[in-house]
Amino acid sequence: MSFFIDVIIPIPLQKLFTYSITFSEADFLKRGMRVAVPFGKSKIYTGIVYNIHNDAPSAYEAKEIQQILDETPIVNDKQLQLWDWISKYYMCTLGDVMRAALPSAFILESETVISKSSLTNIDESILKDDEFLVYEALHHQSNLKIHDVSNILDKKNVLSVIKRLIEKEAISVHEEVYEKYKPKLVRYVKLHADYSSQDSLQNLLDDLTRAPKQRDAVMTLFSISAQTKKPVKVSDLSKRSNTSTSIIKALIDKCVLEEYYIQMDRVEYSGEDNEASKQLNTYQENALSELKDSFKNHNVSLLHGVTSSGKTEIYVKLIEEVLNEGRQVLYLLPEIALTAQLITRLQNYFGEQVAIFHSKYSVHERVEVWNNVLHNSAKAKIVLGARSSIFLPFNNLGLTIIDEEHEQSFKQFDPAPRYHARDTAIVLANMHQARTLLGSATPSLESYFNAKQNKYGLVEITKRFNNVLMPDIELVDIKDKLKKKRMKGHFSDRLIEEMIETLKDGCQIILFQNRRGFSPIVECNICGHSPQCPNCDVSLTYHQYRNQLRCHYCGYNSTMIQDCIACGSQDLDNKGFGTEQIEEEVKLLFPDSKVARMDLDTTRGKYGYEKIINALEQQEIDILVGTQMLTKGLDFRNVKLVGIMNADNMLNFPDFRAHERSFQLMLQVSGRAGRTEERGKVLIQTYNPHHNILQQVSTNNYIDMFNEQMNDRNNFKYPPVYKQIKITLKHKEYNKVETASNWYAKSLRQVFKENILGPESPPIARIRNQFHKNILVKIPKEQSLAKTKEAIIKINNSFFSVKDFRSVKVILNVDNF
Ligand code: ADP
Ligand code: ZN
Ligand code: ZN
Repeated sequence: MSFFIDVIIPIPLQKLFTYSITFSEADFLKRGMRVAVPFGKSKIYTGIVYNIHNDAPSAYEAKEIQQILDETPIVNDKQLQLWDWISKYYMCTLGDVMRAALPSAFILESETVISKSSLTNIDESILKDDEFLVYEALHHQSNLKIHDVSNILDKKNVLSVIKRLIEKEAISVHEEVYEKYKPKLVRYVKLHADYSSQDSLQNLLDDLTRAPKQRDAVMTLFSISAQTKKPVKVSDLSKRSNTSTSIIKALIDKCVLEEYYIQMDRVEYSGEDNEASKQLNTYQENALSELKDSFKNHNVSLLHGVTSSGKTEIYVKLIEEVLNEGRQVLYLLPEIALTAQLITRLQNYFGEQVAIFHSKYSVHERVEVWNNVLHNSAKAKIVLGARSSIFLPFNNLGLTIIDEEHEQSFKQFDPAPRYHARDTAIVLANMHQARTLLGSATPSLESYFNAKQNKYGLVEITKRFNNVLMPDIELVDIKDKLKKKRMKGHFSDRLIEEMIETLKDGCQIILFQNRRGFSPIVECNICGHSPQCPNCDVSLTYHQYRNQLRCHYCGYNSTMIQDCIACGSQDLDNKGFGTEQIEEEVKLLFPDSKVARMDLDTTRGKYGYEKIINALEQQEIDILVGTQMLTKGLDFRNVKLVGIMNADNMLNFPDFRAHERSFQLMLQVSGRAGRTEERGKVLIQTYNPHHNILQQVSTNNYIDMFNEQMNDRNNFKYPPVYKQIKITLKHKEYNKVETASNWYAKSLRQVFKENILGPESPPIARIRNQFHKNILVKIPKEQSLAKTKEAIIKINNSFFSVKDFRSVKVILNVDNF
């Protein structure tokens, strides 16, 4: 009898590949183990065993595998089941899912490879064109070999480009063939066995009187060991005794001290879990018991509690129960909300049982968390992580918490799999028969709708903890203020008054400037021309600090122009305003205050974000100007005033979710104000104070917002009433993408009739020299989702059988955002 395995390979192939194996290999191999397999003429890939069977493939001769890489599976059955679900639901390949799911250290390659660095908030605009091409390619392929880079850039010597990318922390390089995960070794010291007796020790100390520093080091070693009764790290000894490591080395050389190494987890918590969880107040108690009740009939429950109502403390109680049952907990947060504040809070309760998993962690750190979860280790009972932690190898999940569940960053936009982490986490939890708790002060319409339909349980808290009042929200009409000449730059007299008052009280201020649609654009006052990106259909953005014009879509940049390119006039004006400009104005208005800015530019680097948050916490900052980064899960005692500089561009953004998003964003930023006894104040500047959303924000009326928005979604057939799939076609020739998208839409219309919209050019029709066309498939509730997808795949296949269309790129985005 012959034996075969089907293997998932981390490339976008529609089908699994079959390889032949020997009898003994078949005996040894299990689903979820890695194998190295030959592919194509000369490539070697790491594959995951999906299936072991006896059926030879009919279409090709199965090759033999090259090597088995694991002794036990690194991916478990439930994960493979989840991968299947993701690939079917989000219409992508298992290879796509594998690439997203596994830490890249698990995907071994046979040559020098580069991959995207683990930092997510690389500001793409700092990359030169050639660097950007490589960086961009890494969004589609997790790894590139040197010769791939040569092909992309069409030149031989690419090492300088790679070097620059490494310096900008955009990529990392794996030098070695078959680089394996290297555990981190930590250096320890102890007293040499010769000095274990009292006498010999006394002699030693006497000898060392002439070397006081060495003597100090030995004494310190004693006192640390006596105190902690634990091994002593060289680094600790050096720090505590205030001696250099060279002195310790001298002692080692003299055989006074002995050095040794212990394998350490990189992700280690060294504190104690000495804090008991908080006694809940009545509202929290009620909410907790309602939640437990609701979990009796619902796998998923939504906790809708206003900002600072103490949701986190309720999560903690649920976590305690699940841990007592010996099960694992997944606690999902948007990347940006994963702050040191929250991490410390949970570690104080749960100590080293908390594992953190997010993109700022190195590959090695991620492997460590992976292995800890896989082995159900005591060090990873609670995984606190961002989007991609749904891919960890849980084997006994009891509870999934999705905090800030309304956040759209839970949806991966690019590359495939374009999954929504909240929805996928629910599927994962169901596979484990675990409960899912969604938490938010401003739930997504999707989740609230599901709760109203009784698909999810619903529990609400309307009071802040400690009876802190909700902030007082005031709308400021800037049209009127302009007319009455009561604006200084972008600041109304009301805002300035409140700022003066707040600073006088010794409190802090947050000014929020939405990034989207607020890029400062240069415009000629004579002819109205504004400089455009040569690669995309957008105006270039002015960056004062570098005196550059830049494209936020492709990274193109040039120095700021002195005169209009079209008419030569020097009368140029800045339209719109960004955080940078607000910061400048604040500094002029309040020269004695300490002002800081928090946006993509100022938070680069591993701890960039934490630094600013710490400074705010330590009250080293009086006024913080920032983008939506400010909105997430931060708890600052001393912030009393929040100013929203301009609400209108948020509201006018061309997207069917713009109103919902604006409501959420404004209430979340407002929630940063007045978290202690004193009532916080929020000022929202707008040209249109009568806008319904602004009225709903100022009265904190979620229900009104929900009803009104649902009405629109019903009328216009948008989610959550209808499901939708967005199909994007891209090509560098406009005519090609137009013909192709017409063909595609026509075929779809034959099946789905009036539920197809488009093809349409998006607001920015050309990005990086690729023209885009969108087609929207709207899917009524009663229509089978699976059948709809089948029909789309069929059309997609016939599309690619047309020779002319083969160079068109098609992106399927299910439940698009
Ligand atoms: P939310 O997650 O709803 O925004 P948090 O859980 O962060 O609210 O609670 C807000 C603040 O109130 C936090 O500083 C928290 O420590 C405090 N707090 C909440 N519940 C309690 C409690 N039962 N006892 C003491 N302090 C609490
Ligand atoms: Zn561009
Ligand atoms: Zn001009």
